[in-house]
Amino acid sequence: MPQITLGTATGGSSQDGDSAAPFYDYLIVGAGFAGSVLAERLSAGLGKRVLLIDRREHIGGNAYDHTDEAGVWVHRYGPHIFHTNAERIVQYLSRFTEWRPYEHRVLAQVDEHRVPIPINLTTLNTLYGLNMTEPQAADFLASRAQPVSHIRTSQDVVVSQVGRELYEKFFRGYTRKQWGLDPSELDKSVTSRVPTRTNSDDRYFSDTFQMMPRDGYTRMFERMLDHPLIDILLGTDFTAVRHRVRYGHLVYSGPIDEYFDYCFGKLPYRSLRFQHETLNQLQFQAVAVVNYPDEAVPYTRITEYKHLTGQTHPLTSISYEFPCADGDPYYPVPRPENAELYKRYRMLAEGTSHVTFLGRLGTYKYYNMDQVVGQALALYQRIAEAASETPVPGCEVEPNTGSRVETSGPVSAP
Ligand code: FAD
Ligand code: UDP
Repeated sequence: MPQITLGTATGGSSQDGDSAAPFYDYLIVGAGFAGSVLAERLSAGLGKRVLLIDRREHIGGNAYDHTDEAGVWVHRYGPHIFHTNAERIVQYLSRFTEWRPYEHRVLAQVDEHRVPIPINLTTLNTLYGLNMTEPQAADFLASRAQPVSHIRTSQDVVVSQVGRELYEKFFRGYTRKQWGLDPSELDKSVTSRVPTRTNSDDRYFSDTFQMMPRDGYTRMFERMLDHPLIDILLGTDFTAVRHRVRYGHLVYSGPIDEYFDYCFGKLPYRSLRFQHETLNQLQFQAVAVVNYPDEAVPYTRITEYKHLTGQTHPLTSISYEFPCADGDPYYPVPRPENAELYKRYRMLAEGTSHVTFLGRLGTYKYYNMDQVVGQALALYQRIAEAASETPVPGCEVEPNTGSRVETSGPVSAP
């Protein structure tokens, strides 16, 4: 994975600078899934020369993992579990990693109980001291559910499925903490991510494929980016190179409003503060993640990483997540006024033909990793088609098969 210094990469300026400076077909901003997948495709698939930059000191974006000071393998930016229904995404990533089977399970601390979330049969029986069967649990929820004629908000979704009491116990406080907004102020898509079950399935995700990259995300990214046509500059903000590197086209996976100097105002992104700790004990909690929906508890969840990685180690490392407004942008905030503001930036982007916006921050979409991979592969497909070039055999991308991975949009494809 060739990393370069600014000196060797620069000397020219943007698209038409100093001819002595190396020329890159693509300058890609952001070495997360969006930027890295595209860099890999453009270089290995189309023979394009790519400069990939990130302002962080590492590749992998928010999926970055590493061993901490105690030697415990952790995710710096919170727990990342790979799950998808799209086989083609698994096939693509499998070029760069083997997998460790892993099904994610989460418990919620509610009153004095630690119960499965998503709410399931065990959750209901434990909380209410009952011994219901599955059909009885379905009747139980149906009797509590409050009909909502038009499901619009994150409150509507939950209340219409499980009623007010369970909504308050599991969702209201957690969501208020996580987003700094009441669920009634958030789009229905947010809490719709969490299903309600009446059977005993206690897995957090229902996807066909659920697993972890065997050697970690960072290793997977290293293999993905190990190509002679890819140069990488870390610890480098776009503003530091935008006028110093010669390139043909820009792909930007940072925040779209930042690229345009917030000309229409700031797009809200929710941030998190991670408090990482290493404990002198073998295990801290029974599962990888325990959620704390109680609003009086300042954090939302605690993750114990050894469950995710399968690492054997005499110590264990955990992280607390404290949601906050300021800090690195982690979550676009799905609500109508933000969608409207994003639309204005998107229209501006569509008129900016030398830049394509991509990824969770670039297209302001609450995307999971697989969806970002799908979006980057779709963009690559479009570039390959537009260039009418034949991809290197064996590197062709399957067309979108209509799976759950939607690819609504890189903006302003070249
Ligand atoms: P990012 O990973 O955010 O990468 C963008 C990169 O661009 C960053 O590294 C940033 O430093 C860089 N950048 C931005 N602006 C600039 C600039 N001006 N100059 C240089 N560099 C810049 N998804 C799942 O599928 N499963 C999970 O379990 C899961 N858990 C998550 C847990 C948390 C706490 C969070 C926050 C997200 C989680 N996700 C999960 C979502 C997942 O992180 C994203 O889908 C994915 O990382 C998005 O990739 P990306 O490349 O679009 O963005
Ligand atoms: N949520 C909640 N209680 C929970 C789990 C989730 O209220 O115990 C809500 C909350 O609003 C959260 C959303 O459902 O932001 C989506 O949950 P998910 O676990 O998908 O969030 P992420 O992993 O993206 O942070």
